[in-house]
Amino acid sequence: MPEQYIGRFAPSPTGPLHFGSLVCALGSYLDAIAHGGQWLVRMEDLDPPREMPGAAERILKSLHAHGLHSHTPVVWQNQRHHLYQQALDKLRDDGLVYPCSCTREQVRKAGGHQRAQCVGEQGNHALRFHCAGAQETFHDLWQGEQTQVVGEDPILKRKDGLYAYQLAVVVDDIAQGVNCVVRGADLLDCTAVQSQLFRALGASVPQFGHLPLVMNEGGQKLSKQNHAAPLDDQKASANLVQALGFLGFHPPPGLESELPTQILSWASARWQRQAVDRRNRLLAQ
Ligand code: GLU
Repeated sequence: MPEQYIGRFAPSPTGPLHFGSLVCALGSYLDAIAHGGQWLVRMEDLDPPREMPGAAERILKSLHAHGLHSHTPVVWQNQRHHLYQQALDKLRDDGLVYPCSCTREQVRKAGGHQRAQCVGEQGNHALRFHCAGAQETFHDLWQGEQTQVVGEDPILKRKDGLYAYQLAVVVDDIAQGVNCVVRGADLLDCTAVQSQLFRALGASVPQFGHLPLVMNEGGQKLSKQNHAAPLDDQKASANLVQALGFLGFHPPPGLESELPTQILSWASARWQRQAVDRRNRLLAQ
């Protein structure tokens, strides 16, 4: 029997959802549902200093208002540190991580690899994963054939003791059985490092699909950092219809007056990967 599709949406609670995040949530949801799959929500609350109080709850409320419900209970990274530590222990036992207290500049000058000074490092240090120079070739669902070379050994645990995104995202995708990762094209460049980590942890590498980004007038992607407007949950149906337009649909007039769940079933019955234009662009008005 073919393996069931398991997809996910994994927001970081650094601010409320904006239209760009809705496009990713919706694209990952529709791709999963259209393939008879499950869609999971994972809250990536891994970095308290970067988080905005109340953002996680607000994100979940927005997803709910837009009819986007996780098939399994929402997982919170903040409660999963033991899993990240277990994975680090395994990588350490396999000789794949090393302590490092270099600055980024020093690492860059060393070609992204371990420097002699790092060997036997004591005291406050980060843990890095040996993979600089590794090459990954893969077919991305929207960005096509990709060849990426890892430029620098990534940090898996920071000097301040926090687990890094790259480690947690892979450990959780493995633990949750995620086999198709649909997310924004801003994360395309992380794929080689993450694929290396999947392999090092003995798991198979999921299919990746990076959706086009919604840009603002200034040519930047909509993001919490550049203060994209939060989604208005009162306009959930209109937001969904607009996001469907960005993902290549031609919604019929009147779809906007349907409930979010009806809009989602209309769209999941018609989802076509090839209808999505891979280019990052402004939202068509
Ligand atoms: N938490 C990451 C973010 O919000 C996304 C992780 C992922 O989809 O791989 O940017």
